[in-house]
Amino acid sequence: MEKPIRRCEEHGYFRGERCQRCGSEGTFILGREKTYRLGRVVSGSLRHFPDEIGLKVDSSGWAGVDALFHALEKRYGWIKMRHLVGLIKSDEKGRYEMSGSKVRARYAHSINVNLDYPPNKLSTLYYGTSEEEADMILSAGLKPIKQRYVHLSKTYKKSVEAASAHTDRPIILKIDAGEAQKDEIEIMSATDEIALVEEIPPKYIKIVSAKVA
Ligand SMILES: [Zn+2]
Repeated sequence: MEKPIRRCEEHGYFRGERCQRCGSEGTFILGREKTYRLGRVVSGSLRHFPDEIGLKVDSSGWAGVDALFHALEKRYGWIKMRHLVGLIKSDEKGRYEMSGSKVRARYAHSINVNLDYPPNKLSTLYYGTSEEEADMILSAGLKPIKQRYVHLSKTYKKSVEAASAHTDRPIILKIDAGEAQKDEIEIMSATDEIALVEEIPPKYIKIVSAKVA
């Protein structure tokens, strides 16, 4: 379940009962249930179904914060701007990027956007998958299926977590990002944990582990 949103006078919005930086309880902004529901519709609107709530998202994925707020207000009569801004700014998975009066999802889009993050700097990235899919990926490469980009993990640990959501026996693939980028494949750094790419050909992919505890 989601953590509630609170706001520390000094450090801004945070999730949970206490500000992680100073231990202050801050002031209450939004409870667990509403944080969960609002989060689903905000991330869904920015990633998958802006039309469904009448929201305009530009080609780089940006939407107006005001426009998003007004679209949400029609669905959630209780919503105040602090709920939306608090949700965006306190997200613990780096789901959102806010710039001035605009907001976008950082990753996981199915709508056709062209994101413009800085290039990845890590020489190795990881991708967690299932046994069945691993064979296919090793022969055909990595390509997005429903999503706009392939999501690579910056650490082995994160790739295990990502794959474990879909399979009991994750297979971890190692991506030679340094070589791929030398060959002009554009890999972007989206968050502290995620890199995005349109496609990785098989020659840059190896199995690192077939056994994960
Ligand atoms: Zn604080």
